[in-house]
Amino acid sequence: MQIIKFGGTSLGSAERIRIAADIVREQNDCIVVCSAMSGMTNALVRVTELWEQKGALEAIEALQTLRADFYLRIADLLPEENYMPAAATLFDEVITLLKDIPCNELLKHRVIALGEQVTSGVFNSYLVFTGKSSVLLDATTLLHLDKTQEPDVEDITRRLQSCSEYTSSGVYVTQGFICRDVHGSICTLSRGGSDFTATLLGAASGAEKIEIWTDIDGMHNNDPRFVQQTEPIRELSYTEAAELAYFGAKILHPSCVRPAREKGIPIAIKNTLQRDARGTTIQSEAPAFGIRAIAAKDNINVLRITSGRMFNAYGFLAKVFEIFRDHKMAVDVVTTSEVSVSVTIESISGVLPLMLDLEKLGRVNLETKRTIICVVGDMLRPGHMAEVMQQVKDFDIRMVSLGASSNNITFVLPAAQKAAALNALHHLFLPVNEKMVMSG
Ligand code: ADP
Ligand code: ASP
Ligand code: MG
Repeated sequence: MQIIKFGGTSLGSAERIRIAADIVREQNDCIVVCSAMSGMTNALVRVTELWEQKGALEAIEALQTLRADFYLRIADLLPEENYMPAAATLFDEVITLLKDIPCNELLKHRVIALGEQVTSGVFNSYLVFTGKSSVLLDATTLLHLDKTQEPDVEDITRRLQSCSEYTSSGVYVTQGFICRDVHGSICTLSRGGSDFTATLLGAASGAEKIEIWTDIDGMHNNDPRFVQQTEPIRELSYTEAAELAYFGAKILHPSCVRPAREKGIPIAIKNTLQRDARGTTIQSEAPAFGIRAIAAKDNINVLRITSGRMFNAYGFLAKVFEIFRDHKMAVDVVTTSEVSVSVTIESISGVLPLMLDLEKLGRVNLETKRTIICVVGDMLRPGHMAEVMQQVKDFDIRMVSLGASSNNITFVLPAAQKAAALNALHHLFLPVNEKMVMSG
């Protein structure tokens, strides 16, 4: 069994769907995980915003526009009768929902899930229409979140095994990103979550390989949206890939490496439009030398707690982190001095009550609009740290942290300096990376 995941651009038009279907046609045992066509999830999020802010009529109007665009995009793919009844039912269900029920947070997920539902339906219909036998699986019967809002691989394994349509061989098509919550309501993973669905299903089905098909030839050594002449990295270890995904490399969802790593399943990142390009293979061991890659994570906030009571005292940090735990606030980067501790958090929703509690321990200061830059590589190699620091010397660095694994260094700086810092770091490491690519 193998997992083949297609992102939104790989399914964004009739032409792209044909290319994706050709990739699947070569396989006999696979689960195909489909994202929504490109732009659809954003448009559906907009529908939910209109529903909340302007009411049902405007939301339905926006959904009808989206529906017309969807039908237009697949118009010359296959005859209407092959996809229309199922797609029309899905659209109608959501229109009825918007009309009949006042907006609430839970039902927003139900609306947003529509993108993956209609896209996977059309993809499966196209495979069948072109003579490839394939079965559509409903991801919401397979992926259920637990009490902590997390998917559980053992539970997915049980659900897959007891799924009457699934027989561990054959070609299956299902939806990425969508699932059910602990109460059984349709729900979605965080944005970009189809990669996570792919690795969860890979782990649950005992797949020998997970392929992530996207619009670029693998994980690059810097963010191609901000830096020119980035290069694909042939091989990455799970640790390196997880760090890059976690610290902003959009090509992979931050949680998607874990299920694959736990079962030792390699992940291949491939380009749908350049099928012969090698792409990136992610597995336990990778020939790591030099600086491997740079990534940046946006929307970061820094909380600094300063207290004379911290000096030479034990238990102070424990108290700080207990407060973060009590407020269910996840922390990314942490640095400490004798009298202060600085931590980064992603969301500032709920930050005021958190700050009030932290103020019991000392003075608290919040900085918003920050970015974390992460450089992944062999940081302990003599000279590397100095070279990295030299490149960022002109930037307004607010925090620096050398990862415990010594294979990454992270900086926090003002968001406005992000692009310049990524470019400065890239110039420094390009020769090293070129050497690596040549020997890769
Ligand atoms: P998909 O729709 O296939 O899931 P995404 O848009 O989520 O695709 O991810 C692919 C995009 O990620 C690329 O087009 C690229 O702009 C962006 N990206 C950000 N960082 C990197 C990186 N280090 N390597 C490759 N792509 C990256
Ligand atoms: N369609 C979802 C999103 O745009 C999930 C995904 O593409 O992975 O976030
Ligand atoms: Mg993605």
